[in-house]
Amino acid sequence: MSRIALFPGSFDPITIGHVDVITRSLDLFDKIIIGVGHNTTKQYMFPLQDRVEWIKNSFSDYPQISVESYSGLTVDFCKKVQARFILRGLRTSADFEFERAIAQMNHYLERGIETIFLLSSPQYAPVSSTIIRDIIRNGGNAQPFVADGVILK
Ligand code: ADP
Repeated sequence: MSRIALFPGSFDPITIGHVDVITRSLDLFDKIIIGVGHNTTKQYMFPLQDRVEWIKNSFSDYPQISVESYSGLTVDFCKKVQARFILRGLRTSADFEFERAIAQMNHYLERGIETIFLLSSPQYAPVSSTIIRDIIRNGGNAQPFVADGVILK
């Protein structure tokens, strides 16, 4: 059975921290699906189409990696794409507390799905989409912190 992992997130926008987690996990899985969340109650800075396009641009050289958008429960999307693993990154203890609850709830919902965590590389620990959006809003240069395929005007 092939090991398929879903890396779910908002990717608003995708950062060098996300890229680090994804590329470091390539040896662990046969296939990684980057699942771009689309939640109608959530406000995003960048439209879904751009968030997906930028991820596709960033990983065009990686046949193991694909990108899809989804809405609804992450475990339902895992079943749809036959992913037995959910991949998440951890930067801080706050991330851990938040992620622990989600992972445990997902496990209650779907026993066959395990969440795998990778610790952030130290140099990327302070990188977050939230701070990057703040830099952009205030006219700063966020380009060094986003993935190669992100086009900021
Ligand atoms: P969400 O909206 O679900 O929090 P994000 O796009 O912010 O989605 O993040 C997706 C995943 O990437 C989460 O597991 C998050 O902890 C992880 N992540 C975000 N930034 C980093 C980083 N700099 N290093 C490692 N993991 C990260």
